[in-house]
Amino acid sequence: MKKAVLEARKKSEKKMRYCMFNNCTNTAIKSHVLQKNGILREISDKNHLIQMAPVNPFEMSSKGPLDFKLVGINDVYTFQGFCSTHDSEMFKKIETESTLDFNDKNQQALFCYRGLCQEIRRKEIATEWMLELKSHFPAHFLPLIESLLDGYSDGIKNLNLFKTELEKTINSQNTDSFYFETIKIPKIELCISVPLNIGELEIPNDLDYEKWRREKPTMSTSFINIFPKGNESFAIIGYHKNYPCNWTINLINKLKSEDKNKIFKELSDLVTLRLEFWSMSKSLFDTIPQIKLAEFKFLFMQNSFDHSPKLETKLNLFEHLK
Ligand SMILES: [Zn+2]
Repeated sequence: MKKAVLEARKKSEKKMRYCMFNNCTNTAIKSHVLQKNGILREISDKNHLIQMAPVNPFEMSSKGPLDFKLVGINDVYTFQGFCSTHDSEMFKKIETESTLDFNDKNQQALFCYRGLCQEIRRKEIATEWMLELKSHFPAHFLPLIESLLDGYSDGIKNLNLFKTELEKTINSQNTDSFYFETIKIPKIELCISVPLNIGELEIPNDLDYEKWRREKPTMSTSFINIFPKGNESFAIIGYHKNYPCNWTINLINKLKSEDKNKIFKELSDLVTLRLEFWSMSKSLFDTIPQIKLAEFKFLFMQNSFDHSPKLETKLNLFEHLK
């Protein structure tokens, strides 16, 4: 099993991937999901940041499925997303200090688009791994693996719908289909750039599984970007106007609170209950008590397949930040 896992990883690292923009056929290079210089490097400690990463299956019993890793600036918060032309041309405005404008609708769309592509690619890679390793699992695991694969495939299909919509917006520079808002919040050295699906995924009793999969309506997908810049942090939140999400609208209102503790609790909930792709400074990470990190891992595992809007926890990773 160990050998198979290492081989699957090597294969996935070596695999040539295409640029994700508009069916471009050029080879994708490694892209940072948020500015490397100007955002990530600013909060790095000796050019390193903390990121959550999957654990080798043979270490899972001691560490759980995910662990915190200190990652170098060239690799942290990256993915193989776009060809060098699209990577430099398309995102130029949000990569260049003099043109950067967090309230510009087209720039807000670019932030959301890059975070969305990252999530699609990560689900594609997870699918490849799972297919590669499937035959090495004991037979009783197969139904679980099949349902995970179905979940990835349905998830990618759903996210691709929003990818196409965002590409239309980027190409036409007409952002009318989307709602975007940027909120200034107190500075916290935490970076997030992801799409989120919030909603119930229960199969109704009167439907069989395949019928349910076929007829499942499109899940609302919201875009969450949070990052520090200068002396503040910014939240760029977006959603498609045909698929508004009440949970996201509530989040926007909560982030506008005057109470720093309330805002940071929302951010703590986001990383604990809603997403796994984030990065934070080592100095912030080191202030979080070990017992809270242990609770975080437990809650994360327990809730990783639950997208219910009602999920909540008492845990607050950032309670100590005054
Ligand atoms: Zn390209």
